[in-house]
Amino acid sequence: MTPSDLAFDRDHIWHPYTSMSKPLPVFPVVAARGTSLQLDDGRELVDGMSSWWAAIHGYNHPRLNQALSTQIEQMSHVMFGGITHPSAVALCRKLVTMTPEGLECVFLADSGSVAVEVSMKMALQYWQARGERRQRFLTLRNGYHGDTFAAMSVCDPQNSMHSLYQGYLPSHLFAVAPTCRFDADWQEKDIDDFARLIRLHAGELAAVILEPVVQGAGGMRFYHPDYLQRVRELCDQHNVLLIADEIATGFGRTGKLFACEHAGISPDIMCVGKALTGGTMTLSATLTTREVANTISNGEAGCFMHGPTFMGNPLACAVASESLAMLQENHWQQQVAGIEALLRSALLPLKDKTEVADARVLGTIGVIETRRPVNMAELQAFFVQRGVWIRPFGKLIYLMPPYIIQPEALTRLTDAIAEAVEQPALFNQS
Ligand code: PLP
Repeated sequence: MTPSDLAFDRDHIWHPYTSMSKPLPVFPVVAARGTSLQLDDGRELVDGMSSWWAAIHGYNHPRLNQALSTQIEQMSHVMFGGITHPSAVALCRKLVTMTPEGLECVFLADSGSVAVEVSMKMALQYWQARGERRQRFLTLRNGYHGDTFAAMSVCDPQNSMHSLYQGYLPSHLFAVAPTCRFDADWQEKDIDDFARLIRLHAGELAAVILEPVVQGAGGMRFYHPDYLQRVRELCDQHNVLLIADEIATGFGRTGKLFACEHAGISPDIMCVGKALTGGTMTLSATLTTREVANTISNGEAGCFMHGPTFMGNPLACAVASESLAMLQENHWQQQVAGIEALLRSALLPLKDKTEVADARVLGTIGVIETRRPVNMAELQAFFVQRGVWIRPFGKLIYLMPPYIIQPEALTRLTDAIAEAVEQPALFNQS
């Protein structure tokens, strides 16, 4: 890319969560293969991010590319209203088979946030169809569900953007975030606040929505599966729907195909996205039980009121279907277990370092929580100099590499983190 391209980018193009007037630096990537991102000056970076949890098979995979080109020869897109196509059917068949028991009906959407919007609309329409006015949601502090309005309204009110949109967002209920860690002994009192809120508000709740077991962008916290089990029991007891947002956790990332499996539960509604297409295209899905789907469909509207232009896009469906086939054939459990073992041995000992408040690992997710916020621009440049792509935020430096990563490349990532936490200059004062 020329200096003029980069100047244009800086002056005219928004990047995620950055400013137009004081943008953070961006690094020009011209190609990506396997677990490597190639910068335009020829440098190769080992990818520790899977492009935000998505590229589980690595980049430029010949099978995913082939699925795309085969589909493109047939049709890139066709409307889904009144039409169906083989790639959508193949994908939805796999989704129904792979996801927790009882989830039988699939709504294809464009992105994770839209899948969350769809799930919340479904819950609202469900109760409307049953003649009950239930319009509030119960969720957890420290949660993250996306950036569109309904999704934002159930993100943590403190560390999300709630304050910016005060008065515009509906007011939902937030239980204290679980504190009992994934591998600690379960403490029954952890569920108290959630139990209190569901008891008090059951009659006005359309659904509970949460990220099962891993709270991602809201803090990279791993909580006890028994918490999720209790949530399921309490939802059943109080007749409230449960929406599991598996957008970040789905497709093996936590060591189970879906994080709900750690607790042995099935939600009434589940959202998936991110890794669904192996990180190649944007696509998400909201799955429901037959009962939820039938109730909505038999209600006053006689249908579910959502239908985006690019719903069921054939290219996205074809590549997602191939990605799921690869996941099933790829021995992902062994891949994830190998990554988890290496992350544990390399990252957990960093707990003792002065700058480190906590280190934790689950599946292919390795997290270093620091005592002071990272200096994002400096730390990012530090990592790039060491040939790795790691994007920290706040007090979190974390890894979630593609499942195909080899030990040598993974060690480059963990070595770079070990070196970074020894450099006080890479952290801000408060
Ligand atoms: N839900 C969860 C748990 C997420 O982690 C994210 C994105 O990080 C979303 C929803 C939103 O997905 P998208 O960015 O595709 O809209």
